[in-house]
This record gives sequence, structure tokens and C-alpha cells, in this order.
Amino acid sequence: MSLVVVGSMAFDALETPFGKTDKIVGGAATYISLSSSYFVKPVNVVSVVGGDFDQDHIKLMHERNISTEGVQVKENEKSFFWSGRYFNDMNSRETLVTELNVLGDFDPIIPDSYQGCEYLMLGNLAPQVQKTVIERLTSKPKLIVMDTMNFWMDIALPELMETLKLVDVLSINDEEARQLSGEYSLVKAAKKIMAMGPKFLIIKKGEHGALLFNEDKVFFAPALPLEEVFDPTGAGDTFAGGFIGYIASTNDISFENMKRAIIYGSAMASFCVEKFGTERLKNLTQEEIENRVQKFVNLVAFDTVLQ
Ligand code: AMP
Repeated sequence: MSLVVVGSMAFDALETPFGKTDKIVGGAATYISLSSSYFVKPVNVVSVVGGDFDQDHIKLMHERNISTEGVQVKENEKSFFWSGRYFNDMNSRETLVTELNVLGDFDPIIPDSYQGCEYLMLGNLAPQVQKTVIERLTSKPKLIVMDTMNFWMDIALPELMETLKLVDVLSINDEEARQLSGEYSLVKAAKKIMAMGPKFLIIKKGEHGALLFNEDKVFFAPALPLEEVFDPTGAGDTFAGGFIGYIASTNDISFENMKRAIIYGSAMASFCVEKFGTERLKNLTQEEIENRVQKFVNLVAFDTVLQ
């Protein structure tokens, strides 16, 4: 099954209680494509970078069967740059710097070889660009999943509302769900957000797992309790990559299969946070992934006899 992934490819500078990094490769499309590459081949990326982007990283993407034919290179411009600092609990962070650079006037091009894709993952990016990608696909994908963040709610809410009408699944964190809906209760927030367009809503709650909503159904997936969380950057995107990757590989968009996909997404995210940046996602084995999923199964399985 074919998958197209859209999103930022970036340089990130991160600060966590465990240390600091200076300009490492990041970005939504980077994390999503690496994560989904363990499930589908090829993963087709649409993005834009500057002439300063790391060529070794592009090589790594090719080695993992990720196509960069849809990644534009603006030789004389700088790549998107984002800097963030995590608080002590690692569950919340603040954005220190967002320099859009090449993302500022990004006009996405969809190569012919990407047309006809069955699955589309709209990673974090300007909502009007996400919408343009949908419009430039010659046939409608079977499932469109979208991620976004508070930054776009602050500066492009009307455009975000337009894009939301066109997608099937929205994946955001609890803080963003509250901001978008104006509701504190996540159940009320979910109802309001699903009325904006997406039939399915995933609300990520960091170390407290994720909720999947559809109509009046709700499913909860825990996050794996880890001894050490080194760097949560990209966990949300890695989750999304595992989620859409699993769905594409099974070609089943039912709620029941989405429950499994959410566990696969959570398993992939649990690897991501173990090291800085994309480090842990570069060479996982299928066995490691299956063992991790088994840990999730063990975490929530129990026997009981109801009286
Ligand atoms: P996550 O931790 O999954 O929310 O994603 C972190 C990634 O999102 C980082 O690698 C950033 O480069 C990227 N990012 C941060 N802000 C934005 C933004 N406004 N638009 C697109 N990507 C962003």
C-alpha cells in the first residue's frame, strides 16, 4: 500500500534536563517517514529543505526506502529551524524559536510517482500547505490523517478549520485539543473537534498514553512506563508514523484496526524518546518492534471473572 507523508524537515536545537543539542536533524516528516518505513515501502515524502540540510540524513532516508523525490531543495535558503526546551517532568515543553525559512513560502509539488497513493499523512506544517497537498492529489486517498500544533492554531486558525473539514483522522495532544475546542474535558473537546470534520480523533497525553475517539466510542492506549525518557522530541510524529504505517500495511481502516495501530504507534514512540533526536529510529529490527508491542499487550491484559 502506498503512503505519502507531508511535513517539515528541520534542524532542531533541544534542551532537556539531560542535556542540550545544537542543530540536529528533526522535523515532522523526518520522524513520520522513519517510523512508517518499518511498515510500508516506499514512503513518499513531500517537504522542502535549504541548501544547508544534512546530506547524510537524506542518504539514510534512501537506505530506508524513503523517497525524497517530492522534497524540494532551495539551495540558497535555510532549512526550517525549531528550538524547544522541556520542563523537568518532560511532559511539557516550550518553543524557544521557530524560524520558518524555506517553509515560509512552501509550494508543495507532488511527483507523478506519488499520485494514486492510498494513504496520506499530513504532518505538522502550515494548514494551507496541507490543504494544497490534498487538492493536488489526482485521486482521493483511502485515509487522510493530520497532525498539527498550537503554533498553527495561534497564527492560522481559519485555514486550519478549512483543512480539518477534509481529513479523516486528527492527531493532537491534550493541550492542543483544549485550545482548539475551548473545552477542558477531553470528552467534550473530542465531540466538538469531530464536529469540525475528522470522524476519528486521537488525543495524545505524553507519558499518560493516547485516546482514540470515533462517534461515541473511545479507546485508550497507555504509554510504556520507561525507566528513562531522554528526549520526547518527535514522539508525536513517530507515533503518527507507526499509526499510519500499520494501517497502510494492513489496509484496514476500521475502528478495531485503529486500536491496534495506536498500540504500534505508541510502541514506535517509546523507542523515539530513548535517545536524542532520530537516533533510536535509524536501525530498529522487526523483532525489537514486535517485542515492544508485546510489552504493551502485557501491560494491559488481565483476567477477571465478573460476578
Ligand atoms: P513532536 O515532538 O512530535 O511534536 O514534533 C517535534 C518536531 O516538530 C520537531 O522536530 C520540529 O522540527 C517540528 N516542528 C516544531 N514546530 C513546528 C511547526 N510550527 N511546523 C512544523 N514542524 C514543527
